[in-house]
Amino acid sequence: MKIGFIGTGTMGRPMLANLVKKGFEVLAYDVVPAALDGAVKAGAKAAGSAADAVRGVDLIVTMLPSSANVESVYLGKGGMLEAVASGKLCVDMSTIDPAVSRRVAQALAEKGVRFIDAPVSGGVPRATDGTLAIMIGGDGRDVEEARPALAAMGANLIHVGPVGAGEVAKICNNLIAGVSAVAVSEAFRIAEGFGIDHKILTDVISKSSGNTWVMGAAHPVPGMMPAAPSSRDYEPGFMTDLMAKDLGLAVNAARELRIPVLVSPAAQQALRLASSHGLGRKDFTSIYQFLKPSSGQAPV
Ligand code: NAD
Repeated sequence: MKIGFIGTGTMGRPMLANLVKKGFEVLAYDVVPAALDGAVKAGAKAAGSAADAVRGVDLIVTMLPSSANVESVYLGKGGMLEAVASGKLCVDMSTIDPAVSRRVAQALAEKGVRFIDAPVSGGVPRATDGTLAIMIGGDGRDVEEARPALAAMGANLIHVGPVGAGEVAKICNNLIAGVSAVAVSEAFRIAEGFGIDHKILTDVISKSSGNTWVMGAAHPVPGMMPAAPSSRDYEPGFMTDLMAKDLGLAVNAARELRIPVLVSPAAQQALRLASSHGLGRKDFTSIYQFLKPSSGQAPV
């Protein structure tokens, strides 16, 4: 089976490498030459444009940063819509606004092209191992058609509902992870202010009701977990800017539904502030670095 793969960055490259390892033929495209070179090193052939990457392939996969990138790659001038053949199936694995997934699906459907959304969780380590969690929105038959390719990249494939539903599940998940990173960081800053040992606090929380994935798998405090981004100067992992984007998607979704949300906008603004202080391309758990105690002397 031949796959056109567009967006071969941090996640796309290892995902594509697993497709190659499992015997898929991959035609890749990325606007950044270094990213495309990486895809070629991983065993893909290079296409000259997004349109070229979708000609003559059986399945199309996109892994792009944001809603705007997905809209322009699929629907923009010289984009995929102009080149993709009727009857083909497109799988967008980016984390984007579910409304954009539905809009792209609608535009493709008018040309007889099928679309499913299949965002992922697990970051670079699980993209590399081929064990991503993949949450899928789309028609059941389309999901089955994409399943062999998705199974080459992920270990947990969950069909959530119709087009857009995978994105809804993904942004709900990241809302929890993003808020937790801020909460865990605040808790550890308070405890250390009282002189409490990080290891002892970790031991307490891991056995108590405050235990979270963030503390257990990506501890924000450097030195607590050798494999965590915090122990590698917060090399991502999952960038602060991407987490801020995902919290923004959750906040927008809540606004459309008139659901009051309090902690996710606060966490998003904390991450945006961290980004404006140089932590945008660091792992999102670097929010811990940003929440240093104030040096002010005024009474609190
Ligand atoms: P990235 O920025 O490293 O990679 C995206 C790639 O898309 C880049 O190489 C970029 O050049 C390319 N691109 C952008 N516009 C393009 C265009 N018009 N045509 C062709 N290529 C184009 O981002 P990433 O970390 O790989 O994330 C991709 C998506 O996956 C995002 O939506 C992110 O939220 C999501 N995600 C990331 C992680 C993670 O740990 N990095 C984890 C889960 C989900």
